[in-house]
Amino acid sequence: MYIIEPFISALEETTTFAYDPIYGDWSILKGVIVRLNIHDLIDVINEKANIEGIQEVKFDDIAWKGFDMDMDKRGSNCVCCGGERYIHCNNRIPGILLKGVKNPGGRKYRCIDGKHRIESLLSYNMEVGNFFVLDIEDVKPFLYKI
Ligand SMILES: [Zn+2]
Repeated sequence: MYIIEPFISALEETTTFAYDPIYGDWSILKGVIVRLNIHDLIDVINEKANIEGIQEVKFDDIAWKGFDMDMDKRGSNCVCCGGERYIHCNNRIPGILLKGVKNPGGRKYRCIDGKHRIESLLSYNMEVGNFFVLDIEDVKPFLYKI
């Protein structure tokens, strides 16, 4: 167990549900590209955290963009940031997972915020992390087409 820090999200932080030439098919609606502003979830996350708490989840049960790629494209070699966000992330802040949505790995959870933190924790040989777990119904009102 490690210290948990409050959830902080930059206003511009988003996640996209779409096919990506590098990461593969991360769409959830057929033929529709939708995006989520992580900042919009703050109230929902706080509500959930009050009811269910923050949950410990095994990384093996989580799909995140890059989880199935070689290490030359992850961590300090991250294709999205050149390793910058991985190096500077605060891995004590819980990530956000969606439960029961399709993902390329067929895993139980899809990470929508915190992939650099997961990679960071993995680099310390940790097998579980702390997460806010949401259902698709929680985020549906905030999905928008792009
Ligand atoms: Zn990155």
